[in-house]
Amino acid sequence: MPNLTDNFGRSIHDLRISITDRCNYRCVYCRTGTNGAAYAELPFDDYLRMARILVGLGITKIRLTGGEPLLRKGIVKFVSDLAKLRTSDGKGKKPEIALTTNGHLLAEIAQPLKDAGLDRVTVSMDAVDPERFARITRVPNGYESVLAGVRASRRAGLDPVKINCVLLRGFNEDQIIPFGMFAREERVVVRFIEFMPLEEDRVWTPEIVVRLDEIVSRMAEYLPMEEIAHESSETARRYRFADGVGEIGIIAPVSHPFCGHCSRIRITSDGKLRTCLFSVWDHDLHELMRRGATDEKLTEFIVKVVEKKEARHHIGEPGFVPASRTMVHIGG
Ligand code: SAM
Repeated sequence: MPNLTDNFGRSIHDLRISITDRCNYRCVYCRTGTNGAAYAELPFDDYLRMARILVGLGITKIRLTGGEPLLRKGIVKFVSDLAKLRTSDGKGKKPEIALTTNGHLLAEIAQPLKDAGLDRVTVSMDAVDPERFARITRVPNGYESVLAGVRASRRAGLDPVKINCVLLRGFNEDQIIPFGMFAREERVVVRFIEFMPLEEDRVWTPEIVVRLDEIVSRMAEYLPMEEIAHESSETARRYRFADGVGEIGIIAPVSHPFCGHCSRIRITSDGKLRTCLFSVWDHDLHELMRRGATDEKLTEFIVKVVEKKEARHHIGEPGFVPASRTMVHIGG
């Protein structure tokens, strides 16, 4: 059975593909105020070839991201092509296909994506009031569109819809309890993510991060929660409200790093392989393809690159070297 493993014995089965680094939102903690893609986008067939080879090497889960992936025309067909791949883990199943989106264009396309083979969707929302939402995204009237996208996803059966929320001190940490209410009312799983130093404007400081312990104790002021047992490979710590209605997750790469269990690699929109969000270099898989490399050559290249996956990130340490790309150009 093929298995992509790094030198630390971590098995890699989770692939994220960024299909564009364009975005229709300009979230204050992610991008500068300017527009425009910085890196190339590849034809879907090129991502599909990479995905096929990687599924052959043991990838069982593929997440499409960006930039904003729903800006790419042809995404439904791409999902249906991915859904035709078969895992090589001995089960021969369709890979699990997920999408991370800001949800702005989701309402119309949720059902076609589900029909094409999408299994799950994560929608990013950093506030649950329209005005605050507009201030964060720097786009007017987005909140209603995103809410419609969340509801359409639930109706399409993309359950449970997950909501990702990045908290920034002094900016939206007062949204913790409103998000708890939102999770219960909308029957979605809300996951708070600790802010990482991956933004274009380099504003990150340890003080700005709203950490797991604080989120848990704030939420408990609203309603008691109990922790749900989770797999060691799961990035989120999970909690349910004691009355059984609503689930909260916390992804805490800063205060509780999970690098030791990381099972992820990424392909950027321009076809570079990255083995860590915080990689200081990337590996040009697409250039090899462009020069006519066979599947065997590409496989050899991928196996060698993955072996050298970074041990861990160094967020907050004195010698921290920023990643060679920011989040929007890597694919979150
Ligand atoms: N446009 C899509 C979206 O909004 O979900 C996909 C790309 S976006 C970069 C993916 C996720 O990364 C979003 O949930 C976003 O909030 C999160 N993100 C962006 N910058 C981050 C940072 N510096 N630290 C933690 N999460 C970040």
